[in-house]
Amino acid sequence: MKTNGFAAPLPVSFPVVEDCLHIGGVALTRLAQRAGGTPFYAYDRQMMTQRVRELRAVLPSEMALHYSVKANPMPAVVQHLATLVDGFDVASGGELLVALDTGKNPAHISITGPGKTEGELCMAIASEIVVHVESERELNTVAGLGEQLGVTPRVMLRVNPDFELKSSGMKMGGGAKPFGIDAEAVPGLLTRISSMGLWFQGFHIFSGSQNLRTDAVIEEKSRVVELALRLAEYAAVPMSCLNIGGGFGIPYFPGDGRLDMARIGEHLHQCAERVKSCMPEAKVVLELGRYLVGEAGVYVTRVLERKTSRGQVFLVTDGGLNHHLPATGNFGQVIRRNYPVVIGNRVHGASREVVSVVGPLCTPLDLLADKVEMAVADIGDLVVVLQSGAYGLTASPVQFLSHPLPREVLV
Ligand SMILES: *Cc1c(COP(=O)(O)O)cnc(C)c1O
Repeated sequence: MKTNGFAAPLPVSFPVVEDCLHIGGVALTRLAQRAGGTPFYAYDRQMMTQRVRELRAVLPSEMALHYSVKANPMPAVVQHLATLVDGFDVASGGELLVALDTGKNPAHISITGPGKTEGELCMAIASEIVVHVESERELNTVAGLGEQLGVTPRVMLRVNPDFELKSSGMKMGGGAKPFGIDAEAVPGLLTRISSMGLWFQGFHIFSGSQNLRTDAVIEEKSRVVELALRLAEYAAVPMSCLNIGGGFGIPYFPGDGRLDMARIGEHLHQCAERVKSCMPEAKVVLELGRYLVGEAGVYVTRVLERKTSRGQVFLVTDGGLNHHLPATGNFGQVIRRNYPVVIGNRVHGASREVVSVVGPLCTPLDLLADKVEMAVADIGDLVVVLQSGAYGLTASPVQFLSHPLPREVLV
């Protein structure tokens, strides 16, 4: 039987009982009824809890763990994570409201992004969260707004490092980038910052995401720490916080490995020691998005049509690109590869076949799975896209073709 790709598919991380996938302990068929039909996203809270627990076990106890809300901003998910992590990083005023609603201490919430509006900066300063400042102009704006509002803004400088994170899926630092302030421009700003009426807290250095190479992550964290220590020498006040970013990846495709968290944890202990020896007051923050939630979520669609065209079987489902752009390979991937998919109500099946799964949109881009081996499925069966807890719904063009929004449930 011919399948797309050479390596074995990823193992299914949810329990399968009587050949039916269970999310949060509920059979998928029952969950579809509970959700009010398909298509929908489902997130397993226990898997998120477990993920954070395992991570905490290898991290230095004094290292703070922050969740990057843009990975999955569903309010119930953010509320659940509020009980597990130490803080949030948000990327907009909208995400800020969701983060504040959880009751988290604003001092442990930060806002990041290369184009924050004055409105967003006002929200951030008024709520006394930390602004990750990304340009000299923004620094001036924040100082002016602080004066207007009668609040001393908490600021950290987002630094565009003078190195790149090797082998990350998306590079967001090193070279010419719209993100952050070039490292070489930071000393000049630091000389001014204390006279500007700003509460300088430290640096934020986030240089890339979706990294699956343990060695590369380790090297990057070392270089982030060394860069921060070098820049801290120019600061007039001691640094109280150092956000070392994150970038931890999760496996999506056949052949993708997993990060060696024991080794990374050991290295982060060394990083924490190094920071402590030079800057005993500085709290070190690790900032993760998809690593905390990506594997805990699925996207579920129903088969509307089964057809054979010139020998190839197509399952047409009630949702696709409009709800889950990344699974169709159109969210920055260079080569289209299949996300892991299964027939959720018939995971192993009595017989199997090679099929392609397409969404309902009138475009060849709406391809959820290209020639994958699955249980033989019929109309009404549930196609499940795994690894969909991050960058799913909110990374998708939901207006395209004017279909209804999918539901989201946290189980
Ligand atoms: C997107 C982003 C993250 C989260 O990235 P993940 O790959 O989901 O971990 C964290 N920090 C910043 C500044 C980001 O822009």
